[in-house]
Amino acid sequence: MTGEHDHRPQPAPEQPPAVTPAITHPAVVRGDCVMDAVSLGKDYRLARHQVLHAVRDVSLSLHRGAVVALVGESGSGKSTVARLLAGQERPSAGTVRLNGQPVALSGHRAFRRYKSEVQLVFQDPFASLNPAHTVRYHVERPLRLHRGPLSAAEVRQQAAALMEQVRLTPAEDFLAKYPHELSGGQRQRVSFARALAAQPSVLLADEPVSMLDVSIRLEMLALLDDLRKRFRLALLYITHDIASARYFADEVLVMYAGEIVERGPAEDVTQRPAHPYTQLLVSSAPDPDNLGTALRNGANRAGRPGLAGPPPDGACPFSPRCPYADDRCRREAPALQPISAARAAACWRLDVAAPDVLARPEGGGDGTT
Ligand code: ADP
Ligand code: MG
Repeated sequence: MTGEHDHRPQPAPEQPPAVTPAITHPAVVRGDCVMDAVSLGKDYRLARHQVLHAVRDVSLSLHRGAVVALVGESGSGKSTVARLLAGQERPSAGTVRLNGQPVALSGHRAFRRYKSEVQLVFQDPFASLNPAHTVRYHVERPLRLHRGPLSAAEVRQQAAALMEQVRLTPAEDFLAKYPHELSGGQRQRVSFARALAAQPSVLLADEPVSMLDVSIRLEMLALLDDLRKRFRLALLYITHDIASARYFADEVLVMYAGEIVERGPAEDVTQRPAHPYTQLLVSSAPDPDNLGTALRNGANRAGRPGLAGPPPDGACPFSPRCPYADDRCRREAPALQPISAARAAACWRLDVAAPDVLARPEGGGDGTT
């Protein structure tokens, strides 16, 4: 306000620190936003007027050519988010937008059009293919459905091209097979080919490798990453394995009990987690090169009881399991608060749980960045 006429040497102008910036999405550097969700919620009515808040206030943004990982243990609401984004269920609150337009799926045709943009790949490649049909049927059907009028020769040619892209070759051999003649990894490749047949801009991959043999998981993630690049897919990668999220995500969102408790650039969140729950996930994850499954069984290897009972009403949902919880945490749930331009966490106790992150939110742990 004043000091305009001060002629002493001025320091280089800096960003004003006083205003807390809105969160920027690390995935934005890759490409335009294709899909975003604002404050999504999903309630399920249980018996006796009980309501389960399966998903609460989840916002995310998927960008062309970028990977956002949604990480959390079983039951945290990840698949519900995927179904909401895929248009398979209606949100109880909030909005999903595709290319900036709120999604309104009234009727069969609207849903088909939506599916040609947004495809979901499931965890279980055994359940997702019909045992009565060949691979050719599974891949050619969506080609006919989504790619407009094609001649029979074009359909065959494009089916073969898709098989090459998911590296099931010779394509003709694999197209003739039935699901039971394929390994789990090969079936998941067929699931990818079938999803890509629609030429989607968004691929929602719900734990796509967690039912596969550990020895082929890395190879499958590498394939997914290759497809992401080749087709400039906006990819939501859902996993309970935070080590695998680090492997190829741009942004990591950590979910606990239906809410996002931490978000930020993948490297920062996985190397220097701020939220006590993320710290727990990271510390119980195995060697990042060995894409293991410490949490598959809901195991909590950090020595704290996994079943500590529900939190008191209105409390931080993680408080019963949190080593830093104090009275405030047991009274009042924290909202997701920015801790830097690209990171946020929902925790009252960050000053105790992650003082180093508060001091220097971005940058790898080794100080070389
Ligand atoms: P995740 O994929 O992270 O394991 P889900 O999204 O499948 O979690 O489930 C989140 C919570 O919502 C769980 O408690 C689950 O039991 C509940 N849930 C999911 N679908 C339904 C449904 N259709 N009806 C009632 N509860 C559901
Ligand atoms: Mg799930």
